[in-house]
Amino acid sequence: MSFPNESIAKFQQMVWDIFGIADDRLYSNWDLLSNMERFTMWALKGIRKGKIGDSNIPLPNEKPENASESFSHIYSTAGIKFNLIVATAWFFALMNRLHIDLEKELWQRFPNMCSYCKHMPCACETWKDKKFEKIKSEDKNQPKTMAEFQAMFKKIYPPEKRTLEHAGVHLAEELGELSEALHLFEGTHKKKYFTQLEIEAADFFSCIMGVANSIEMDFATDFYQLMPQKCHVCGQKVCVCNFF
Ligand SMILES: [Zn+2]
Ligand SMILES: [Zn+2]
Repeated sequence: MSFPNESIAKFQQMVWDIFGIADDRLYSNWDLLSNMERFTMWALKGIRKGKIGDSNIPLPNEKPENASESFSHIYSTAGIKFNLIVATAWFFALMNRLHIDLEKELWQRFPNMCSYCKHMPCACETWKDKKFEKIKSEDKNQPKTMAEFQAMFKKIYPPEKRTLEHAGVHLAEELGELSEALHLFEGTHKKKYFTQLEIEAADFFSCIMGVANSIEMDFATDFYQLMPQKCHVCGQKVCVCNFF
């Protein structure tokens, strides 16, 4: 396989290759989290205020002046895409820091079915008795690439069954749950909270995929277009940005 047709693990590794040294020298876990939160916020603001329907606008060619500066045209689908990708890059940096194999957690949590109702497509709204069926999903059906994972999430959570705003609210909720799990783990160092953190990480990424599906975004292609094995700001394979 080659980019952008690569696994989530390879994308996570790519973020390490570009930003790992800078991240380790300059950022605490909380810094990584808050940057992830900031760019998620810009994506959510784009959803709330945006003129949706211009999904054919390509990603911006002009580079922001520094890594903290968001794409100016946030009120467009292109802006939402940009901010989702940058938020995800910070999220992958946090996963790298915590040595979480996101792809493994995703498949454990979403093995071709909703994590709650255990159905594909999700039947949470109509499923009354709340007894979880023991469905065994076969590992040979695990998506291999990020694009295949996105397609799987489209089948589990069809975008036509909810609005983009709903997908955005769910993303905001999962962002908060991930923050809470990190707080609980950092405050106690208990393994059960690290396990919770792994679960919340999978849920957060599922919601990134949810928003991407709602705006018909090819997430892997756009991610690689913005960060083709180099920093989208300084253009270097090992980022040398003058962060603040
Ligand atoms: Zn469900
Ligand atoms: Zn850079």
